Amino acid sequence: MLTIKDIYAKAGDKDILKGLNLEVKPGEVHAIMGPNGAGKSTLGNLLAGMPYVEPQSGSVEFLGKDLLALDPEERAAEGVFLAFQYPVEIPGVNNMYFLRTALNAQRKYRGEEPVDSAQFLRMVKQKIKAMNMRDDLLKRPVNVGFSGGEKKRNEVFQMGVLEPRLAILDETDSGLDIDALKIVADGVNQLRSADRSFIIITHYQRLLDYIEPDFVHVLADGKIVKSGSKKLALELEEQGYGWLNQ
Ligand code: ADP
Ligand code: MG
Ligand code: MG
Repeated sequence: MLTIKDIYAKAGDKDILKGLNLEVKPGEVHAIMGPNGAGKSTLGNLLAGMPYVEPQSGSVEFLGKDLLALDPEERAAEGVFLAFQYPVEIPGVNNMYFLRTALNAQRKYRGEEPVDSAQFLRMVKQKIKAMNMRDDLLKRPVNVGFSGGEKKRNEVFQMGVLEPRLAILDETDSGLDIDALKIVADGVNQLRSADRSFIIITHYQRLLDYIEPDFVHVLADGKIVKSGSKKLALELEEQGYGWLNQ
């Protein structure tokens, strides 16, 4: 599904990713952990096509396509979704309208019929229950006045509506209390399927008690320095990242 080969990339004017390799197959859940400033968000931003991340060399293949050659909208339509570490507020844009517009842009790209507002409402009503979100959050401007937990839940709700092939969650768990964490994890687990993959960026192994990863990787100084099973996350929790400097 996703093959990242020897990627070097700058964020702003700094060299951040330094020879990163990662292979994600359909249906797999990969957790990425690592110290602050290692380049975890830069990796997510690179895949989503955020403008301030500039690839220098290496390649990213997604479902047989050269991902880096696509613009961000095309990547989204191909099925790449990034839940932001810091979800943005969009004053003046109703959350429902925002989501339906995003969905229909992707459907148009794929040559599918748009979803009208009545169809969309039916679709959303089912999903909102599953996410344990309040209806009124849908009618309000995107993320404006949402609590930290509501913003993160809204990101996972967006993911549920857009049904991506590859979902990247960037510290979606940080700042969540245990109930919100479970809701986010349930949202992810409901979407797990044989043809959908996840990259879960997290600072804490706590989330991985609820979302069981197939692989855990440590990203440090711009590359993957260690990969293992779920057990690796527990070891990291105990030992921290200090051993990386030895
Ligand atoms: P992580 O998510 O692992 O904590 P990041 O990928 O956010 O790390 O950041 C890696 C490094 O890149 C940090 O030193 C950060 O300050 C820097 N960085 C991130 N974005 C930018 C940017 N837009 N301009 C300049 N430096 C950036
Ligand atoms: Mg960070
Ligand atoms: Mg980050």
